[in-house]
Formats: sequence, structure tokens, C-alpha cells
Amino acid sequence: MRTVYLDNNATTQPAPEVIEAMLPFFTELWGNPSSMHRFGGQVHHHVETARAQVAALIGAEVSEIVFTGCGTESDNLAIRGTVEVAHTPVNVITSRVEHPAVLEPCRMLKERGVPVIELEVDGKGQINLDDLRLALSRGRAVVSLMWANNETGVVFPIAEAADLVKAAGGIMHTDAIQAVGKLPINVQRVPLDLLSLSGHKLHAPKGIGALYIRRGTRLRPLLLGGHQESGKRGGTENVPYIVGLGRACELAAKTLADETTRVAQLRDRLQAGISNTCSKVRVNGDTEHRLPNTLNISFEYIEGESILYHLSDCGIAASSGSACTSGSLEPSHVIRAMGVPFIAAHGSIRFSLSRYNTTSDIDYVLENLPPIIKKLRAISPFAVP
Ligand code: PLP
Repeated sequence: MRTVYLDNNATTQPAPEVIEAMLPFFTELWGNPSSMHRFGGQVHHHVETARAQVAALIGAEVSEIVFTGCGTESDNLAIRGTVEVAHTPVNVITSRVEHPAVLEPCRMLKERGVPVIELEVDGKGQINLDDLRLALSRGRAVVSLMWANNETGVVFPIAEAADLVKAAGGIMHTDAIQAVGKLPINVQRVPLDLLSLSGHKLHAPKGIGALYIRRGTRLRPLLLGGHQESGKRGGTENVPYIVGLGRACELAAKTLADETTRVAQLRDRLQAGISNTCSKVRVNGDTEHRLPNTLNISFEYIEGESILYHLSDCGIAASSGSACTSGSLEPSHVIRAMGVPFIAAHGSIRFSLSRYNTTSDIDYVLENLPPIIKKLRAISPFAVP
């Protein structure tokens, strides 16, 4: 059966070039990069090359990149690490629509008495910078706002937010896990202190991440017991995965400009095709400020899970904005925070593309999806007007 993978915000296919770059580090180059002898020395050099490749993609200095075990760890290290090291009490400011990797550490800090402000979003999933200004007026803050949303693709005004945070003397972290490799990012132009990224969102393997830490930013490590990564992340480095992440960043830097345009055209073809062939659909999120690869669209009066199930039968992989909690299908916190009406929230589907998708993939979806929607609406448990 033909397969079409449109769930790249969940994870991406590792690039063949990445796998090729990693393989020698399982066979010949298996030394510990901290060792003084030549087995270590050879490997150490490759870890540093990878660090330079990651740094180059986001305009950082090589010494400002720390490798972590995943994006979740990068987010935790940024937020907990900076709050815990602060001399005076700080507030934490974040948004309602962050990934749980940000929301959960913020909520843990709240339980420990740290004031946490979660900024609301509007119907398009955007924050209001006046709300951020107001929150910053309450005192010094560690701010964590995502560059781009994993469910809707909505891109926050991170440069403007970072300017406000720095003017107020705060610390600015961004979860750029969905943005790195999809949008041009240059930390020289945006006054960020910390930026998280994750390998498996840009064609490197799962289980490797990095945190950009601007020189001079103080933070307490989460893992104690090792001097690796300049003492900021203890534990012997996962050399093959670090090399893979480096290669993936190098590839992203080369292909980004062309691929962004091509992928956005494919996504727009999909969006237009669905809008022309299916009734009662609505696109979720700010379409003017959106990742080039993401389409979040609601099919009113249908459960998203039923659509996914039927798409999967045709070999098409996408994902829904619902999470199955205690047997009930609840729309995700992102869709809920945007105030998407119930009847649309339950039928929201995320299609997320990558550089491996083709026009023929999109046309295959456009061939198969409209009959599925028609069929499911005919048997909808809701009163379809
Ligand atoms: N933040 C965002 C925006 C994400 O999309 C994800 C992964 O889905 C994460 C954090 C967590 O990254 P990882 O899976 O590498 O822990």
C-alpha cells in the first residue's frame, strides 16, 4: 500500500546522510570523548564539529551549545536551571499553549511557590505583547515562549517579546523545537538567552537535543555528577547522536531557503484542495504567521480520531489535536486555549510536512480525504445543520 507521512511535527524520518554520518561511531570511533588517549581524542574532535554545525544553523558561538538528551530536557534545563540559580525571587512567564515540556516544569515551580503567569492566546493562537508587558511589570522574570507551536504552527513574535524581556531585565528562553530547520533563526539578531532544539524534528534521531545558552547566562545543571558539556550537563556524551544532530543541522542550513518555499507551496496546495472539496472546514491558527510545513484544520461535526483512522487505512499518517484522557476525547489544551468551538475542536487534524514530501503525496491525500469526510458526516452523531 502507498504510504504518505504527514506527521513531521511528531517526528521526522532520519536523513540518510545523517545515518551515514553516525554509523562509524558505533563501529570504529567508539571512544569516550573525555578520554586523554587517541580513542578519545578522535571522537572529541567530531563532537566539537557537531557543536559547530548546530551553532552555525542558529548563528551562535560554538561554546554556547550544550548537548542534551532531548528537547524536553533542554526546556527543563533552561527553565528550572535559570529559576533555581536566581539570587532574588523571580516570576515565571509562559503561555497557555506551550508544549508540556515547558508547562510542566513551570507548574512544578508554581507548586514550590514561584509566581507563574501563563499568557492567554487569542482565537488565532497568538499572544498579545501588552499582556507580556503587564506581566513583566510585576518584577524580574524568567520568560519561556515558544518560537512556533507544534499543533498549529503559529509563530510567536519572539524578537519583539525578547526585546521587551531584556528591556525589563528578565531572562528569555524560547522553545524553538518546531522552528529550527524550518525558519531562519539567528540568535545574533534576537536577544535570547536560551533556545531549545531537538534532533528528531529536523531529520536527526530521537533522543538528542541541544540548548543554546548565551555566554554569561547562569544556570544550575539538572544532572549532577559529570563535568561534561562545560559542567552544564553531566553524563558521557551520546556521540553517534550528537554527530547525527550536527549533520542534520548542516543539511538544514543548506536546504532551508529552498525547502521552506517548496514545502509551504505543498501545504497551501493541501489547504486549498481541502477547502475546495470538503464543506464545513476551518483552518486553525494565525495563517499569516505560521510554520511553512503545518496545517491544522477542523472538520466540523466529525471526531478527529475517526478521520485519522480512515486516513491510516489509506496509508496516510497525520495527527489530531485531541488527546485521549480517561476514556473521553478531549480537544488539546492548545485548541481549547484558542477557544475553537466544540463542534470544530473535536474534528481538528494536523498535517505536517517535510522536505521528503512531494506534490504526488498531497494529491494522494486530496483524492482520499474528501470521500472519508463525506462518509463520516453522513454517520455523524452530531446534528449536522
Ligand atoms: N517542545 C515542542 C514544541 C515540541 O514539539 C516537542 C516535541 O514534540 C518537545 C518540546 C519535546 O521534544 P522531545 O520529543 O525531543 O523531548
